[in-house]
Amino acid sequence: MNSALPNYEQAAAVVAAYAARLGSGNRPTSEIVELDRASGRVLASPLRADEDQPPFARSTRDGYACRADEASQHTPLRIAGATHAGEAPSGPLPLGAAWEIMTGAPVPAGADAVMMIEHVEKSGSPVDHVRLLPPRKIKAGDNIVAQAAQARRGEELLPAGFTLGAAQIALAATCGQASVDVFGRPRVAILTTGDELVAIDAVPGPGQIRNSNAPMLAALVAAAGGEPWILPTAADTAPALDAALAQAVKADLLLISGGVSAGKFDLVEPALARLGAHFQFTGVRIQPGKPLVFGELPLTAAESHRGGVLPFFGLPGNPISSAVTFLLFATPVLAALGGKRDSGPRFALAHLSRDTERQGKPGLTRFLPALCDFNPAIGKLPEVATVPWHGSGDLAAFARSNCFLVIPEEEGFLEAGSTVRILLP
Ligand code: AMP
Ligand code: MG
Repeated sequence: MNSALPNYEQAAAVVAAYAARLGSGNRPTSEIVELDRASGRVLASPLRADEDQPPFARSTRDGYACRADEASQHTPLRIAGATHAGEAPSGPLPLGAAWEIMTGAPVPAGADAVMMIEHVEKSGSPVDHVRLLPPRKIKAGDNIVAQAAQARRGEELLPAGFTLGAAQIALAATCGQASVDVFGRPRVAILTTGDELVAIDAVPGPGQIRNSNAPMLAALVAAAGGEPWILPTAADTAPALDAALAQAVKADLLLISGGVSAGKFDLVEPALARLGAHFQFTGVRIQPGKPLVFGELPLTAAESHRGGVLPFFGLPGNPISSAVTFLLFATPVLAALGGKRDSGPRFALAHLSRDTERQGKPGLTRFLPALCDFNPAIGKLPEVATVPWHGSGDLAAFARSNCFLVIPEEEGFLEAGSTVRILLP
């Protein structure tokens, strides 16, 4: 065991500090996109309320607007008018009266509460009075959202850096924003290396395999808000790597897959070094993924963008190692490049299934493909079990997993039934 290598927490801290510097150092470019194409994008300027939210005191129930202390005396109140959703605010509410009102409609001036239709007794023929059924009481504010309760006109609703999902898009729509100002997606070069790799549509010859990391990493990059840019695969020779790396300088982030282990044809680190790379670390005490390399390349003035450096990750070529190291370490850097406030990785607690026990490896934090039932019974943690696998090249096992079981480095053994951490995809 190479104890000179950082452990998981130390490497994660290096990446987090690097991402924080990136995030504060330069602002990504921005663009205006239509709201219906904005899902997953990152706000480049704050979203502000164009009006008070809500713009008028709004009833949250079908029922009768009233004065709470009058209604709480249970005497019949005369129905003085009605307002439907979509009608302009009306009133005022006379003393001793109630006002028929629908969910979403403006509450008439003078009313301070709404009696739910289920809680009143109607009288008269035709109906012209209502009273709150005893012993129920009502207090001022009940079933009303006051004007501007959520926000005042001009107030910031979401800061820049917020990722837009369904709720944020609905909020933008409510504020009249048919389009939004978002950060450009960071362009992520994906360079796969290896003499054994052939294209997806090729039939592999003896000893060859199809390149599965390129589409896998492209999917991970897209899910993390980046724009994948798949480069031609590089052979395991120094000139091929030099030529491939020379192309990648136009990216905002460079992912290299393969060629970072200690083997004879693992030539990526030396190729990066020839370009003057500054390495942050060249290995992490995790399994899978130990050979991970992280650093930055200096850019010439002509190539220079984003502070004149190109951050890179040399991901170990085994597919599960590539995926784990991407999730753990590349997502925070990608998030920072994309102007995001929040950044991965995401962890959760789960209950280790009764029939799964797991051996740790002293000195290594392990991330094992696992299947978690994310629909636990109330009061229970999600139940997780590892997926049987044949090591970090086992794509079939990986494809049947939906998270990774974390075994901390100091843990010799995870007992069935214990509470464990999982890494979410
Ligand atoms: P390496 O990190 O280059 O030593 O590769 C480790 C293992 O991952 C080897 O079995 C490679 O064949 C495999 N591998 C490397 N690159 C890829 C790739 N792009 N797609 C699928 N498997 C790969
Ligand atoms: Mg290789």
